[in-house]
Amino acid sequence: MVEASRDTNADDEHDPEGATIAFERSQLDTLVQQAVRRLAEIEAALDRLAAGTYGVCERCGRPIPAERLEVRPEARRCVACG
Ligand SMILES: [Zn+2]
Repeated sequence: MVEASRDTNADDEHDPEGATIAFERSQLDTLVQQAVRRLAEIEAALDRLAAGTYGVCERCGRPIPAERLEVRPEARRCVACG
């Protein structure tokens, strides 16, 4: 079994499919990184919720509209502040 999978890996280097797999792999990496960043944003939002500053724009200090929080619950700024 180990020998067989080694052969498969060696073939990847010369197989045109190998490039496609590498491309998809890098796209997947990007997706994972985006998900990790988004998770960090959500965690920060939960921290603000606990601190009582959730839903307040970090730039102008005005409340972030509920509609915006519905679309982007992790939003730190109001629409005007981007
Ligand atoms: Zn603002």
